[in-house]
Amino acid sequence: MRPFTYQRATDAPSAVQALAAAASTNTALTDGAIQPLAGGTTLLDLMKLDVMRPSVLVDINPLSNAWSAVSLDGGNLKLGALARMSDIAANPDIQRNYPVISDSLKLAASPQLRNMASLGGNVLQRTRCTYFRDVSYDNCNKRNPGSGCAAMDGFNRTHAVLGTSEQCIATYPGDFAQALMALDATVEITGKAGVRSMPFADLHKAPGNSPQIETSLLPGELISAFSIQGRWPRSTYLKVRDRQSYEFALSSAAIALDVQDGTIRDSRIALGGVATIPWRAREAEALLKGQKFGDALASQVAEAAFKSAISRKHNAFKIALGKRVVSRGLQQAATMEI
Ligand SMILES: Cc1cc2nc3c(=O)[nH]c(=O)nc-3n(C[C@H](O)[C@H](O)[C@H](O)COP(=O)(O)OP(=O)(O)OC[C@H]3O[C@@H](n4cnc5c(N)ncnc54)[C@H](O)[C@@H]3O)c2cc1C
Ligand code: SF4
Repeated sequence: MRPFTYQRATDAPSAVQALAAAASTNTALTDGAIQPLAGGTTLLDLMKLDVMRPSVLVDINPLSNAWSAVSLDGGNLKLGALARMSDIAANPDIQRNYPVISDSLKLAASPQLRNMASLGGNVLQRTRCTYFRDVSYDNCNKRNPGSGCAAMDGFNRTHAVLGTSEQCIATYPGDFAQALMALDATVEITGKAGVRSMPFADLHKAPGNSPQIETSLLPGELISAFSIQGRWPRSTYLKVRDRQSYEFALSSAAIALDVQDGTIRDSRIALGGVATIPWRAREAEALLKGQKFGDALASQVAEAAFKSAISRKHNAFKIALGKRVVSRGLQQAATMEI
């Protein structure tokens, strides 16, 4: 690991001030930049692998008192970005009103990691593409812009089939982000200019021609909270992986339904393990509105969710698998006892 300086923020203004000295674009996520440190479970791994080379770490954990609260006011949920994954997964109000959130967190990583890892760090975790994480490969456009993509003609079994570009096919690896997508969450961002909010769906950027730019956060900005309007008791997260524990998704679906007298009034579907960013299947979910749930409808929706999928040499199975995950996730949500 390369030498770096450790700073401990005392409050939000001091954290933001320290981070504002960061490089002028968020491409500096990989090299030389100043990085916030939350649980450290992604950041320190990548530093040990020499993939991320920050010169300064700003420890934001002293902000936990202010930034790890959970509030459920008038049916609206606010989650602090420094809340730990395990605490949110075990929260009975969240289990009752937003099972998709608790399921997505419980099915992620391991108990030890969930005890350390924060919600903000979780949504900002970086791809598990093996070529990205192994610096002996020079050709990775995300790590080394303009160098090519080793995965394109390499072993790409775990890579994405949705939202890809000719520059990068890396899968977004997290689980919780899909729950936030399905619940139309808003992300609260704290920076030098104060606090701003934006739809969570706008946080991650598809790779396009600049896979090294992964989010729309500005230099020095921190995620401080996530907000969700309304309660979604009929919601679920289904995750399929190579083994049943401690593994990233090959395909997952976060589903939220609002059903009245057997008719679907509102529906949201977000996909994980198959796309370059947390992926909302808007065209597919629209097919459910005003309908009664049934197997034929579920298959139609699943087909629509993967209409634009593009597979590479080793990952075509993800399209068939993803469709089954959507169908089964819908079935699971539609038949939940609430
Ligand atoms: C073996 C293993 C298996 C895993 N399996 C899964 C899995 O199945 N599903 C899953 O979802 N995840 C999985 N993970 C990922 C794990 O959940 C993440 O490492 C963790 O959630 C990151 O949170 P953290 O607080 O430790 O982030 P950190 O490592 O501290 O930070 C991650 C990144 O986010 C930045 N950051 C952190 N907080 C903020 C903030 N508030 N504002 C702005 N920037 C911030 C940091 O600078 C850094 O770049 C796994 C990890 C490991 C090591
Ligand atoms: S898929 Fe993306 S992250 Fe992986 S090698 Fe290609 S450019 Fe790098």
